[in-house]
Amino acid sequence: MFYYYPKMHIHQEPKIMNDSFENRLKKVEARIATACRNAGRPRESVRLLAVSKTKPAQMVCEAAEYGLRLFGENKVQEAQIKIPNCPPQLEWHLIGHLQSNKAKLAAQLFRMIHSVDSLNLLEALDQYAATPLPILFQVNVSGEASKSGMKPDEVAAAVEAANQLSKVEVHGLMTIPPFTPDPEKARAHFVALRALRDRVQEETATPLPELSMGMSHDLEIAIEEGSTWVRIGTDLFGAR
Ligand SMILES: *Cc1c(COP(=O)(O)O)cnc(C)c1O
Repeated sequence: MFYYYPKMHIHQEPKIMNDSFENRLKKVEARIATACRNAGRPRESVRLLAVSKTKPAQMVCEAAEYGLRLFGENKVQEAQIKIPNCPPQLEWHLIGHLQSNKAKLAAQLFRMIHSVDSLNLLEALDQYAATPLPILFQVNVSGEASKSGMKPDEVAAAVEAANQLSKVEVHGLMTIPPFTPDPEKARAHFVALRALRDRVQEETATPLPELSMGMSHDLEIAIEEGSTWVRIGTDLFGAR
């Protein structure tokens, strides 16, 4: 017998080489620019913090070649190993929970700490910082038990405490909303952080210009609600 096998038409997705760092960065930049335009805000009012946690120094070096300068890490020890292998002109920000016993090292490594969540930690950072150290208070606006961060009603007193210290300078607030697949659900948390900032700013007569909020999947919503720092990991460096 003779069989004729017709040519099979296997549908193949066109292979788009869109996962280079350059393309991922372009996409993130375009999303930030569009969100700023939609919100009537200047592009310079939002800074992109590239979150390099779990990723090697080599990826940071590549990102630096494309002009990124602001990087976020969530663990002091990981940063301590990575930073010396990265270009010296980069600025490092701590975005993860910090224990007071690592405050000295953190004050040496980081330009700004986004995740100050207790008075103990605030005082430890003040004790060890050699030069003025900008900080943000991390606030648990959702009240979720599992997330670190101060309660909203503790923030005013923490700002007053920071005002009495010599090295730490409180510049604003940070929050991490609970993850939901629908980024629109994060909006209420961002609104709550901004409203808290407005209230505490007035109560304490302390300017609090910075709001660190928004990650890969919800940066547009955060920018619409006033974010000045979006912290982007996955959409720049890939899944962890
Ligand atoms: C990991 C992390 C990010 C980045 O999250 P992506 O969803 O990967 O963009 C932002 N903020 C904090 C505090 C993080 O720990």
